[in-house]
Amino acid sequence: MPNLDLVVREIADEMRQRRDRGEVATYIPELACIDAQAFGLAVIGVDGRVAAAGDSDTAFSIQSISKVFTLTLALGKIGDRLWRRVGREPSGSPFNSIVQLERERGVPRNPFINAGAIAVTDVILSGHQPREALGEILRFMQFVADDPSITIDEAVAASEQRTGFRNIALANYMKSFDALDNPVDFTLGVYFHHCAISMSCRQLAMAGRFLAHLGRNPTTGHSVVQPERARRINAVMLTCGHYDGSGEFAYRVGLPGKSGVGGGGILAISPGKASIAVWSPGLDANGNSHLGRVALEALSKRMGWSIFGA
Ligand code: GLU
Repeated sequence: MPNLDLVVREIADEMRQRRDRGEVATYIPELACIDAQAFGLAVIGVDGRVAAAGDSDTAFSIQSISKVFTLTLALGKIGDRLWRRVGREPSGSPFNSIVQLERERGVPRNPFINAGAIAVTDVILSGHQPREALGEILRFMQFVADDPSITIDEAVAASEQRTGFRNIALANYMKSFDALDNPVDFTLGVYFHHCAISMSCRQLAMAGRFLAHLGRNPTTGHSVVQPERARRINAVMLTCGHYDGSGEFAYRVGLPGKSGVGGGGILAISPGKASIAVWSPGLDANGNSHLGRVALEALSKRMGWSIFGA
């Protein structure tokens, strides 16, 4: 069995030397100035061992990775009825695409494209004030990560709220099909804020442990979701977690994963083995962390973790 500590350190060293770092996203002004040289990797085994290297304790904007946790919460609230509000098929479209929505009459293709995540946020918001819904999402994140220090970066949320015209358009368009229950401003306010949760690789890998371990926190034994639900969330991450780059990610890495465009992070799950978080702000053409994907490909290969075999 390869030595996980060594593999993680080797990969971080290799990534530090690479020049192909991708392009940092600029569409959220507050995030445009992140250091493209940053790189962090943290792996938490289901046996509790931690292997981390690089900037693994530096907090970054998790952006769309938060959608894994809002999906988990919304399924907890309304169960399989959620699938009437949002599909679970890969979109083959960019993260903020509007084209499919017209054909599909306001029902987004999956919970991880922006339109789908906005619909999921709307489900969590129903029956609450935006502040309560946001508090619930943040507390859930703190619970699964076992870390009450996790916060929301208000400057990032405000920056996206000022400039997120595409998301505002998506939400209004869905509202025109009656596909949102709450006022558009309320749903978007909660959405922008949960995307602005700030976490380090280590905190994020901690938060993902339940998905690697049949829905339970392997350290405390607390159940977060039933094993069947963890399996299904992993399935949606595998097929939809990287937007129109999901096929390429499955082909190269072979693990369920969810990327965040703005911050450049990826959460990946090796079922039964480990929860992994990687951060490198430069993106590839599909808006996924370039070196994050390269590092995960190396990790999965060297540890023999691809779900498709060696
Ligand atoms: N807040 C970002 C947006 O809605 C999330 C996108 C992402 O990180 O993939 O555009």
